[in-house]
Amino acid sequence: MKAVIDHIGIAVGDLGAALAFYRDVLGLRIELSEEVVSQRVRAHFIPAGAASLELLEATTSDSVIARYVEKRGPGLHHVALRVDDIDAALAHLKARGVRLIDEHPRPGAEHSRVAFVHPSSTHGVLVELKQPIRPPETEPPPARVQRFTCGNFELMSLYDGVMKLDGGAMFGVVPKTLWTRQTPADDRNRITMAMRPLLIKGEQTLLIDAGLGDKEDERFHEIYGIDRAAHLDHALAEAGVAVDEIDLVIATHLHFDHAGGFTTRGADGRVRPRFPRARYIINRGEWQDATHPHVRNRASYLADNFVPLVDAGVVDFVDTDTEVVPGVWMQRTGGHTAWHQMVWIESAGQRAAYVADLIPTVAHLPDAWIMGYDLYPMDTLTAKQAFVREALARETLVFFEHDPAVAAGYLLESNGKRSLQHPS
Ligand SMILES: [Zn+2]
Ligand SMILES: [Zn+2]
Repeated sequence: MKAVIDHIGIAVGDLGAALAFYRDVLGLRIELSEEVVSQRVRAHFIPAGAASLELLEATTSDSVIARYVEKRGPGLHHVALRVDDIDAALAHLKARGVRLIDEHPRPGAEHSRVAFVHPSSTHGVLVELKQPIRPPETEPPPARVQRFTCGNFELMSLYDGVMKLDGGAMFGVVPKTLWTRQTPADDRNRITMAMRPLLIKGEQTLLIDAGLGDKEDERFHEIYGIDRAAHLDHALAEAGVAVDEIDLVIATHLHFDHAGGFTTRGADGRVRPRFPRARYIINRGEWQDATHPHVRNRASYLADNFVPLVDAGVVDFVDTDTEVVPGVWMQRTGGHTAWHQMVWIESAGQRAAYVADLIPTVAHLPDAWIMGYDLYPMDTLTAKQAFVREALARETLVFFEHDPAVAAGYLLESNGKRSLQHPS
C-alpha cells in the first residue's frame, strides 16, 4: 500500500480570523471553497507545496466539525493520505485489524472518494484515506454537435443538456462498488447523463428523439439535476439546421428525456409541435402505454410531450419494425418499455445504430449492466445480446443517447470483455 500526504485538515471556529492568518499573514493562496454536503462542512483548500492545508468550517450546528470545535476548540483535525485504490486500501487495513470509521468510501471534496480510520488504531490521529476520481464529464460541456457519416447519410449527434439520475436505478443489480468505478456519483448518489438526439441528413432530414425540451419548471429541473445551459436549439444552430427543415421525427419511446423536445409551449400557453413541418413517427403500442400509465411508469410519461402532436394531426403510427426512409429503419427491442425501439441506418455498405435506452451509456455494454428502470429486464438482456452479436459481426457505428462523454464508437470484444473504439 502506497500513501502520500494529500492534505492536513484544520477545524476552524472563526473562518474570518483563520483566513486573516493563513491568507493575510502567511500570504498563502486560498482556493475556491467547496461544500461537502454529506459531512456538513465547507472545505477551503490552501496549496502548500505538494500537499495542502484544508480549513474546515461547519455548515450546520450538528456537523462533526461544529462538535469538534465545541469540544476541543479549533485545531488540527485530520491527516489525509492519498491512495491509488481506496477499496484495496480499506480491505488491507481491515484484514490487519485496523478500526475503520468508514468501512466503505464516501464522496469527498475535490472529486474524491474518502474513508476515515479511527484514531484508536492510528495512535491518536484521525486519518483520512482519499482516492481522487475522474471528474464528472459535464465540465467542460461536451461538444454540442459531433459529425459522422454513414454512406450517403450525414449523421450529427446533437446535445440537449444533461440530467442526473440515481446511480443505483441506472445500474439495476450491479453493486455500487462496481459502477462507481465507471461512473462517479455526486453527493446525492446521482450520475450525470447527457441527452443526445441524432440528426440524419440524406434526401430528407430526420431527427431521432429530441431531448428534454423546455416545458418543465424549476422544481422538475431541481429533482432531475437538469442543466440545459446548452440545449437542442444551440445544437441545431451549430449544425446549421432550422426547425422547419426537419421532415421526420422518430420516437424511440415516449419517456420525457426523449420526447420532451417534441413539443414546445407558445407565448399563448398552448403546447404545439416543436418542428412545424415534421411528421412524427410513434409506435402504437408505446402510445397506448404512454397514454395509459401505471404507478411504475407514470413519472416518465408527461402527456404534454406527445398528446398535442396527435391533436395537431402530425403523428404517423407504426405497428411493426418499419423502414422510415430507404436505409433507416426502426426495430423493436422491448425491455426498457414493452415497445422501445432502436434505429438502424445503412447506406453504401456502411452501417450505424442508435440504441437509445437499450444501451444508454458505454458503461451499460456488459450484459448484466441493465437499468433498474427497465420494465422487462430479461427482454433487455435478450435484445442487448442479439444487438451486440450483430454489431460485432459487421462493423457498426453505435450511438449512445445518454453517455456524458461519448457520442458514438465501434464495439470490440475480447475475452468476453466489451469495449469501445472511438471513430477516428
Ligand atoms: Zn427511457
Ligand atoms: Zn432515457
